[in-house]
Amino acid sequence: MIPDLPTDIDQIKGFLAEDEAQALYQQALQTSIAGPVLEIGSYCGKSTIYLGLACRINNSTVFALDHHRGSEEHQLGEFFHDPDLYDAGEDIMDSFKEFRRNIRRAGLDEVVVPVVAGSKSAARHWQTPLAMVFIDGGHSLEAALTDYRCWMPHLQRGGVLAIHDLFADAYEGGQAPYAVYRMALASGLFENLGQVNSLGLLRRL
Ligand code: MG
Repeated sequence: MIPDLPTDIDQIKGFLAEDEAQALYQQALQTSIAGPVLEIGSYCGKSTIYLGLACRINNSTVFALDHHRGSEEHQLGEFFHDPDLYDAGEDIMDSFKEFRRNIRRAGLDEVVVPVVAGSKSAARHWQTPLAMVFIDGGHSLEAALTDYRCWMPHLQRGGVLAIHDLFADAYEGGQAPYAVYRMALASGLFENLGQVNSLGLLRRL
């Protein structure tokens, strides 16, 4: 049972299983004593809320990175397109309004710091060591690799790298997050903490 979890958390748009949410919360609770958490791909803020509730207990911060223009699969005409998140006036995807609403309603405005930018731009002058990095951004190989390469160097020793949407079988889902996960494992820089559903967990040595 997670204290202060919004009762309508299941109504928030997003792709996160209950056991994965619990695992993210537990990892953030353990790691964020040592520093802030960075989430890549916040979308409407569902996972951000779990991370934020854990960080609040430790007086820590979640940096919630997302350009809020949607990934490839969210665009108009694509499989995961959601008309509610489409700004017809501007003719572009915009999940930021919905994100802010959900974070505010969860009472986490003082814990969650939105970084509305692409991964590369946000990382360019980044200096702060991170206690946890959660990669849940774009699912193209280029996007997933960029996220890993931009942020892995900022993960401090003992910190946790979490990667969402690992599917060993290509029929279950895209292979880019799994490729990055295997790359991280093969690097020898991480201890394997195992997998919870499609969430991979690694500890930086
Ligand atoms: Mg995901």
